[in-house]
Amino acid sequence: NVRVRFAPSPTGPLHIGGVRTALFNYLFAKKHGGTFILRIEDTDQNRYVAGAEDYIRESLDWCGISYDEGPTKDGGYGPYRQSERKDMYHTYAQQLIDSGNAYYAFDTAESLDAHRKDHEANGKTFIYNWHNRLKLDNSLVLSQEETKQRIADGDNYVIRFKSPQDEVLKLQDEIRGEMEIDTNILDDKILFKSDGMPTYHLANIVDDHLMEISHVIRGEEWLPSLALHVLLYRALGWTAPKFAHLPLILKPVGKGKLSKRDGDKLGFPVFPLQWEDPKSNEISSGYREDGYFAEAVVNMLAFLGWNPGTEQEIFSLEELIAAFDLKRVNKGGAKFDPEKTKWFQQQYMQEIPVATIATAFSSLLTEKGVEATEGYTTQVVTLIKERAVFVEDLWTLGSYFFTAPTTFDEKASKKAWKEGTTAIMEEVKIILNGVDNFTTIEAQTALKAWIVNSELGFGKVMQPFRLSLVGAMQGPDVFDIAATIGKEETLRRIDYAIA
Ligand code: GLU
Repeated sequence: NVRVRFAPSPTGPLHIGGVRTALFNYLFAKKHGGTFILRIEDTDQNRYVAGAEDYIRESLDWCGISYDEGPTKDGGYGPYRQSERKDMYHTYAQQLIDSGNAYYAFDTAESLDAHRKDHEANGKTFIYNWHNRLKLDNSLVLSQEETKQRIADGDNYVIRFKSPQDEVLKLQDEIRGEMEIDTNILDDKILFKSDGMPTYHLANIVDDHLMEISHVIRGEEWLPSLALHVLLYRALGWTAPKFAHLPLILKPVGKGKLSKRDGDKLGFPVFPLQWEDPKSNEISSGYREDGYFAEAVVNMLAFLGWNPGTEQEIFSLEELIAAFDLKRVNKGGAKFDPEKTKWFQQQYMQEIPVATIATAFSSLLTEKGVEATEGYTTQVVTLIKERAVFVEDLWTLGSYFFTAPTTFDEKASKKAWKEGTTAIMEEVKIILNGVDNFTTIEAQTALKAWIVNSELGFGKVMQPFRLSLVGAMQGPDVFDIAATIGKEETLRRIDYAIA
């Protein structure tokens, strides 16, 4: 029974690395007929950012990654926000203390700092664990009575995990295989903070267990926590889920991890949706607002660390579900390539049903104050979308379908409109006016026959003809343009050009 979760912390906008994690979890769940859960990990009150949870949900929604269980969608394992599960964590922290797997620690920030500096001065790194504490200063390890007394006195404490000594742990990762780790290098991580909230580590393990998570699929940045997590499961007497750590997403240029700051700085979004920082009011761009199709973004994300092992690159969500396999996820970092995202976008411009694009284009037309029927808009989109990457481009490429040109490209005019052109265009008007059924074929047949007969040569006619209709030397087949705007409008535009 496959149950996976995406467990973001609402500390800001979700970046594409997060969406990729959500996507891979979703694909894995759907592939195996399992359940995809959204869990909000909001135990860190200091880093909580208002609006972030809504942003996360809206982002997933936009991408078409729908969750089966989560806040607002109870599946019997809720609540799905850690802040609403606080009481559960106490029980397990206590259980760990009772079984000798965790302890109260009363260190002050200053004393920890002093120890750290001390170690550094001797060229060593300070590893905070039980064993080292004993070596360091016997008084640090308190007896049960002392511990009780200090708690009763109201001293600040945290609860720490007691890492086992002198053990070589074997860790299993679905993508990386087996790894070994010496437990002596592990810190005794904090499980419960002095503010009475559990840390990520404890809450995460408790929830994954109680929510019966079968596979933990998450970013590589959590790999260093794997040993602790495995030890926590063991200490609580639980079976650990399977783990899969997804490769890092790397900057397009230079070295290192793609960061939230790289986006606008390097000229591409790293967020699915635009985000306005509630504190600074600073706005970061998002794929949705930049005009990307969610399908293109999802397709791009799927290839960040995964590949199908075939030549196929364009995948719908359904196709991704069918093709997805954790075994085909790479270990090595995946370079993020904004150009590739654009390429996917361009492909989807041709891939997505014309009617869908026409609907999006219609909204843009309305914004521009242009009125056009759905049918007409669809016709235009069909003619020009080949060159478009974004819906916006459709306007740049085809505004003349909606508003007649009032100015003419200077260079083109010089080339196309010569002495005698006006007389030729008067003739063209007569020929076209004689075409009753004004379709591409009929208009073309009539005009071409006339050109051949009059021995004028195609350029002399076709160039000013295009210039009249478009205002420049661009666009699809000029007879397609004429047929689309209609006979009357075609003649009107020639008139305007002549005058
Ligand atoms: N809350 C963690 C995060 O923000 C979840 C990590 C995990 O999936 O275990 O990434």
